[in-house]
Parts: sequence; structure tokens; C-alpha cells
Amino acid sequence: MNPFLELGIREEVVNAISELGFEKPSEIQEKAIPVLLTGNDDFVGLAQTGTGKTAAFGLPLLEQLDFSQKQPQALILCPTRELCLQISKDLEKFAKYIDNVHVVAVYGGANISDQLRQIRRGVQIVVATPGRMLDIIGRNAIDFSQVKYVVLDEADEMLNMGFKEDINDILSETPDDKKTWLFSATMPKEVRRIAQNYMTDPVEMTVGTKNTGNANIDHQYYLIRAKDKYAAFKRIVDSNPEIFGIVFCRTKIETQEIAEALIKDGYNADALHGDLSQQQRDKVMKRYRDRSLQLLIATDVAARGIDVNNITHVINFSLPDEIENYTHRSGRTARAGKTGISISLINIKEQSKIRQLEKVIGKTFERKQVPQGPEVVEKQLLTIINKVQNVEVNEDQINQFLPAIMEGFESLSKEDIVKRFASLEFNRFLEYYNNAPDLNIDGRDTRDGRDRDRGERGPRTGSKGYTRLFMNLGAVDEFSRGDMLGFICNNAKISGKSIGKIDMKGVFTFFEVQDEEVNKVFEGFKAVDFNGRQVRIEVSGDSQSDRGGRSRGGDRRSGGYGGGERRERGGYGGGDRRSGGYGGGERRDRGGNNGGFRDFSGKRRESKGKY
Ligand code: ADP
Ligand code: MG
Repeated sequence: MNPFLELGIREEVVNAISELGFEKPSEIQEKAIPVLLTGNDDFVGLAQTGTGKTAAFGLPLLEQLDFSQKQPQALILCPTRELCLQISKDLEKFAKYIDNVHVVAVYGGANISDQLRQIRRGVQIVVATPGRMLDIIGRNAIDFSQVKYVVLDEADEMLNMGFKEDINDILSETPDDKKTWLFSATMPKEVRRIAQNYMTDPVEMTVGTKNTGNANIDHQYYLIRAKDKYAAFKRIVDSNPEIFGIVFCRTKIETQEIAEALIKDGYNADALHGDLSQQQRDKVMKRYRDRSLQLLIATDVAARGIDVNNITHVINFSLPDEIENYTHRSGRTARAGKTGISISLINIKEQSKIRQLEKVIGKTFERKQVPQGPEVVEKQLLTIINKVQNVEVNEDQINQFLPAIMEGFESLSKEDIVKRFASLEFNRFLEYYNNAPDLNIDGRDTRDGRDRDRGERGPRTGSKGYTRLFMNLGAVDEFSRGDMLGFICNNAKISGKSIGKIDMKGVFTFFEVQDEEVNKVFEGFKAVDFNGRQVRIEVSGDSQSDRGGRSRGGDRRSGGYGGGERRERGGYGGGDRRSGGYGGGERRDRGGNNGGFRDFSGKRRESKGKY
């Protein structure tokens, strides 16, 4: 008998999940489903990402809701729009063979009237991000009187993102006798508190060791100088030609810059972060899912909950501020029983963070050496040979061209032909890695200092005497370069002569300003709106260079990262984050992006034990 049937799941659902390839329950499903099916208890489920939590609560919900009624009976809260869509799609798949199941996904950044219309038409399951849910509650547009179950999915993440108050407010709108099911990858104090305040004697189930990463993930790190980071990163990618990875950066700017640099360098990469419109994000995600992208460069928040199978590598281009985020990041790989590698690029100062991570996740990190030029070249070569050997030859199609091909190669020996074909794909690497230096921190330079950086330089910073700034407006805002120059000069009240290069991109612009005029730009743009959008200026390269801690701008709360509305859109480190972060209440300075542990700053005191 099918083990899901044995657990008490009805045949229609078992058929649907069999089609999805679910043969037997995962551990959390095995533990949670029998408890949740009774419908009598509050529940706390602790399990890493990728362990099948959605079905653990989704299947019991489908057994217990009354689909002949059209009122909301289950409310699922989750931290991001991506997760919200994922969960609602999963539930619809599970319910494929049950009639009249209506699920609505309620999330910010999308048209609210569509969501309201769906709710009016009648739904039994609401999957929502907290901000938009409150908005809809505030409009009196939803009736929660029939809600029997509330699920808090990725509760730790919701708290990290500052949704605590929102969750309180939403829960108070639901009936007292509902059951609450909380799922989380980790159990910081804040989550514990929610369980205490809102749940009655919850049944608690833990899968694996608390806080421990997935056993199928190999954790590795590379020790490099900050300025060599990008070059080392490329080598790692180049020595893994079949990589399908997510690269995590700490800020939107860093994300954008790394993606841009990679694209320029001929990689198949794109950025995913909260400054992109929903359509742009959807497009990037679609390309990644379809594997037409090899590298997705993302912020933590934007990549949260992404469920793409077969990701081979997670690369921490910068380590996350929060230790919990490391688990979330690495959990993007090694899903559904596969294996994966989580790589961290660190400098000397960050070694202590690795030790702390090891303690928390209970696994050792392996130090790896940045591959030397010849190693990379050999890897690439083997891949080409492999490709040639395995290529599918379409005899019918190629035959008609064969005479011409033969004629063209007549004068070449077999050896020549082999050399030339390999060179076609390969010259880029040969050239690039010709005399490439050793990038390991205790390695020796094989070249003199002068041209050491040639060809391996990271994303650009400003010209001499100029500071390179970032602005969140660009060509899509229908600015010409001249318009942009005028826009900057008028607002900053500086002369056009103070402006250097202007590099307009789709949704943003990099521009250079003479160092002594930079503050005027920040002053001038403190409160400038463009088509209802707050114009944001940042020093470009702050995040990845070794200049450390140079984020400027007066009132960070209004102009900088972390405006209130940003939570829904996946803003990085919102100014209003209220979470206790790692280690609960220990941390007081939760300000903005700089509130956490900045690795390169040097100005910041080592904050022991807080990472
Ligand atoms: P979590 O919420 O714990 O991060 P998900 O519920 O998103 O994990 O599941 C992770 C992946 O595993 C999904 O692709 C899902 O379809 C798959 N999955 C879940 N349960 C099973 C199962 N019992 N058998 C096979 N695959 C499963
Ligand atoms: Mg999940």
C-alpha cells in the first residue's frame, strides 16, 4: 500500500503527489502528518529547507477543509512573494484531483484588485505575505471567521524580515479556537516566543539536529584577499564548467555589479534583487529555472524560498550578516536528496566566522585552494573533450553538408582540425589564464606587481579624483544621458563639470562625481521622488571593495535601504527589522545594512560571538 495512503491521505491526493514523484513521505512528513490530521493540536515543526515542509502541512490541510464551503478556512503566512507563489502552486498540484479547491496567493508588489477579486469569488486557502495580508484585512475585504488553521511557514525568516508585529496583528484577526502550525528551519528565541504567546501546548517535532545543515552539503571556503575576490570567484566557476549555481551577495548593489561584471566577462549570469520590478524578477527566475542562466546572483531576501532542483553550488560571495542566513543560503542546494556544495569566499579577518559557522551547523568546513591557471585550463579542456565525445550527431541533417565540410578541411590533418576546434572554445581561457597569478592568500605571486591585476580586475570603481555613485533610475525611466546629467546637476546644485562618466543601465545608473562634490549629491537627493519612487544614491562598490563602511547619505531611513515598504519587495536589511537575529536579544544595533557585522570595515570593533 502507498505509504501516504497508510498515513491517512485520500486517494485523489496520493495520485496527484505520485505524479509529482512523491513515493514515500519525507521524515518531517512522516512525523507531522499523523499529528496534524487529528486537527486537535498546535504544532511546531523544525526542519531544514528542502525537507518537504509544504506537503507536511499541505496534505493534512487538504484532508480537513470543507471544499463545499467557499470561506477561507486555512491561512498560510510566509515571508516572500516567491515562497507564497510556490506554496500556492504546490497546494494546487496536490489538490489536482479534488473538486472546488480554491487557493489564493496574496503578496505585495502585484495588483491588489486581482487578489481581492479572487477572494470575493470564494477561496478556502489563503497563502499570504504578512504586509499584503494586513492591507487586505484593513480594507475589510476578507472574512476570517471560518479559519480553522493558521500555518506560519519559515517563521524564523518572517521574524528576520521584521514581520513580527504584522503577524501579531493578523493572528488577532483569526478565531481563538483555530490551530496554529509553525514551521521553521531554526528556533531562535523570537520564534520560541511566538510559540509561547500564540500556541497552546504545541506538539513539537524536530527533524535532523536543530540548526544543522543538510547532511548532503559539502561546506568549503577559500581564503583570499578582498581585492582578488572576483578573480578567485571566476576561477572557481571556470574550474566547474557544469556549474548551476546561486551566488549570494550582501547588497543589491553588489549583486548588480557582480552580475554585470560577469555578463561583460562572457558568463551566463543575471541578478535577482529587490530593486527589480516583479516582471524583471519573474523573467530572471524563469530563465534560471529553464537553465538558460547558469549563475543567479542574488540577495538573501530575493532568493529566499527559491525551490529550483539540481543547483550544484551555492557561493557566498560575501558571507551573510546573520548566521541563520547561511543555512538558508546553503539550503538552496542539495534539495530532494541530491548533493551540493556551499562555497564561501573569505578574507583573513573572516576566518573566525567560519569557526562560528562550524559550531552552529555542526560540520567542518574544508579549506580549498583557488585553482591555478593550468588547473582551470585543464578542466575546461576535459569538458570540451567530453562534450565532443557525447554530442549527438544528427546523421540525416549533417550528411547533406558533409561534402562541403570535407572539402573545407581537406588541407588540414586530423591533428590540425582537433587543435582548431579546441581553440575555438578555448582561446578565451588560454589567454586569460596565461601567467595567471596564485590567488591564495599564502600563495606566491608568480608575476611582478605591475600587471598582476591585468584581466582579472573586479567590478569597476571610480576614476581618480572621482567617486562612482549608483542611482536607482536608468534608461527604463526614459532618461537620456543628457537628461540624467541635468537631473543630477539640478538636484545636487553642482555644475556639469563635476560629473565624470555616466553609465546608464536598464534600471539604474552609475555616475562619477568629483570627490569634493559627493556630499552635495547626497544632500540634494535626500528627498527626491521620481514618478513616485524615492531616488536612491549609494556609493558604488561599497559592498565589495575593501574600502569598507563607506556607505554615505544623510538619513538612511528615508533615502537608503530599508524603507518601510521594502519589506514586501525583499529589501535588504530594512531599517525597521525587529528580529532578534542570531542569538536572540543579544543584538542591539539592528539599524540598516551596516547594522550587522561588516567584514571589511576595519573601523568596526570585532564583535565577538555575534556573527
Ligand atoms: P521545504 O519547505 O522544507 O524547504 P519543500 O516542501 O519546498 O521543502 O520541498 C522541497 C522539494 O522536495 C520540493 O521540490 C518537493 O516537491 C520535494 N518533495 C517534498 N516531499 C517529497 C516526497 N515525499 N518525495 C519526493 N519529493 C518530495
Ligand atoms: Mg518551505
